[in-house]
Amino acid sequence: MHVEKWSNCLLMIKEQIPEQSFNTWFMPIVPVKLEDAVLTIQVPSQFFYEWLEENYVHILQQAIQKVIGQNGKLEYSVVMDNGSASNQPYMVNVGGNKSGFNKSRVNGYDKYKNPQFMQELATDSNLNPNYQFDNYIEGDCNRLARSAGFAVANKPGITSFNPFMVYGGVGLGKTHLIQAIGNEIKRNHPEKYVFYVASEKFTNQFIDALKSNSLQEFIAYYRNVDVLMLDDVQFLKDKEKTQEIFFHIFNHLHQSGKQIIMTSDRPPKDLSGLQERLVSRFKWGLTADIQQPDFEMRIAIIRKKLQADGILISDSVIEYLAYSVNTNIRELEGVIISMIAHASLTNVEVDLELAKTILKNIVSHIDSEVGVDYIQKTVGEYFNISIDDMKAKTRKKEVVIARQVAMHFAKDYTNHSLKSIGYHFGGRDHSTVIYALQSVSDMIDTNSKFKYSIEELKKKIKLKAI
Ligand code: ADP
Ligand code: MG
Repeated sequence: MHVEKWSNCLLMIKEQIPEQSFNTWFMPIVPVKLEDAVLTIQVPSQFFYEWLEENYVHILQQAIQKVIGQNGKLEYSVVMDNGSASNQPYMVNVGGNKSGFNKSRVNGYDKYKNPQFMQELATDSNLNPNYQFDNYIEGDCNRLARSAGFAVANKPGITSFNPFMVYGGVGLGKTHLIQAIGNEIKRNHPEKYVFYVASEKFTNQFIDALKSNSLQEFIAYYRNVDVLMLDDVQFLKDKEKTQEIFFHIFNHLHQSGKQIIMTSDRPPKDLSGLQERLVSRFKWGLTADIQQPDFEMRIAIIRKKLQADGILISDSVIEYLAYSVNTNIRELEGVIISMIAHASLTNVEVDLELAKTILKNIVSHIDSEVGVDYIQKTVGEYFNISIDDMKAKTRKKEVVIARQVAMHFAKDYTNHSLKSIGYHFGGRDHSTVIYALQSVSDMIDTNSKFKYSIEELKKKIKLKAI
């Protein structure tokens, strides 16, 4: 009986409002009962009820009176949106008119009817336009995350990568990647409302909403989003209430086919302090990690950055930087910026010497640079020559080569002066060192087997150097 009456009401209502609004605001309503000309309908949330009352009260009233009669009334049963699984409905009594509805509660939503506010809402995505796919370098360490991200950017909400979760250590490019996705979506789908928020900000907004009694507004805001990007979800650790509200927003968006993108500094399984039900949802879609960039990728990043700034720096300096800074991309960028600043301020070309000096001042762990001892040991092992021999007077060819190679690396990987290097090799003078460097450089150019050995050694020494 009540179902039939409500269907009749719907038929009438449907004729009077746009289909989109009808689907959004009337389809989710469930008729509960009809008693003494009072039709009870269940609505999904408090906010939903308020929205109906504010926007469709006349249409509802009309329909009820036509279908049930002049004394027909409407009663809402609101499913509490408090995060509890019980979904216990509670009753709100409202007549077929606005009586009993507290107008002041409505004022908070006025801004949602303000076109300017809605416009701002739709355009302010919190995205940094500098974070794009174009300037996001691909390497082994981020290939999966990047290509999955690209797929998401082209078909938000449609691929099975929903949610899309990117995890990895600090400064490895998580924020850049998801913002690039956001920027790309805005380009491909200008009608979509893309919204980026850091978890910390989300938490603060939620607390503010609680304090100012505008929780419904907060929820409505997030439910309005087509693509939600929540950065650094590990921050939600132990924030039970925030997690709960996010859980509900997550469910709503996911069910409506909206795209959710998140980042975290660790894989979902290690996200302690997060509710299991939340973590299990994170695993629904695709989880992709970003690792530390390898040497080639660091080179590529430095080149790209220098190129963007129109700065020329020699390959040996670029290689040196790539070897020396292997922690993360943010730090690498910091070093590059210092180099560029130095180069442009002093008008001096950045050579290896200057690069080392600059680096020493900004990257603390470079101080623990590889020592001459270590180089001698590594090179000695490689050529099967003892350290004593390297320091001794012997002129046997294989010893001389090993000694010269070790000097070559001492020059490249330590801050020792030529004189000091000579001193470490049995008290030779600096001209011997210069001669050694020249010989090695010549041999690299002319002997490919030797060149290969140098590359191999470079890798070994690099392991320790950084
Ligand atoms: P995270 O969010 O993982 O801490 P960010 O996204 O903030 O790291 O990245 C740190 C810096 O490194 C940013 O300036 C970013 O533009 C840059 N960066 C990271 N990954 C790449 C990449 N693959 N190509 C180019 N720049 C990158
Ligand atoms: Mg970040």
